[in-house]
Amino acid sequence: MEYIDVHAHYDDDRFVEDLENELEIVRKSGVKYIINAGSSIENSKKAINLALNQDFIYCTVGIHPECIDEIDRVNEVEKLYNENKTTGKIVAIGEIGLDYHYDNPNKEKQIELFKKQIQIAKKLDLPIQIHSRDAVEDMIKIIKNEDELPNKIMFHCYELNEELTKIIIQRGYSISLGGNITYKRKESVKEQIKRIPLKQIMLETDSPYLAPQEVRGTRNSSKNLKYVAQEIAKIKGISIEEVVRQTYKNACEFYNICK
Ligand SMILES: [Zn+2]
Repeated sequence: MEYIDVHAHYDDDRFVEDLENELEIVRKSGVKYIINAGSSIENSKKAINLALNQDFIYCTVGIHPECIDEIDRVNEVEKLYNENKTTGKIVAIGEIGLDYHYDNPNKEKQIELFKKQIQIAKKLDLPIQIHSRDAVEDMIKIIKNEDELPNKIMFHCYELNEELTKIIIQRGYSISLGGNITYKRKESVKEQIKRIPLKQIMLETDSPYLAPQEVRGTRNSSKNLKYVAQEIAKIKGISIEEVVRQTYKNACEFYNICK
């Protein structure tokens, strides 16, 4: 079976010592492509370098809401894309969004940063990878106005929410599911995964974070995508082969990366 990991962080310090080795293991496990996500300006540059050095890795550029201090550098996101456009390696703006998880988030600034990067993506006609945590009400407010958004939107590490799920199904947006769906979850979460058509689902690891239950506590890597696929198959009552085949196809089409 062949997999695509649509969201991972191989530029993370935890991969510094044995990156080549880990990527070899990942390839052998059936992973055909990886999209390495940027989360700050510096880190987006690292993601670009990684993608330029590895045939099977693509990347996104963007400023994560936790890097709100970089709001004054937001124009560099567009610059980075334009400087590397001809390589074809930057496939989306991300990860961008809202994160109110920690104390005293600067909501106003986060919203401003998010909206600015949405505009950049729309202008460049690129998909976006959205990160949303504990901020669903404001997220819904922002995505209400469809005209201001790029056509292709993927909610990464999707935090299931009834109202947002409805919008996603209606508008045909995509979600990517990761290792955290294998953790003990409420039934309502499974119900929502059941309702979202497989055509709108992709697989991710968010490596090195969120290792699936089977290997929880370890450094996550794309070789663990099979556990995510297995859980989706179980929830939807279909075969793992079908999940892997369809999510692969979805990622190819969404990011236009399969050669
Ligand atoms: Zn991430």
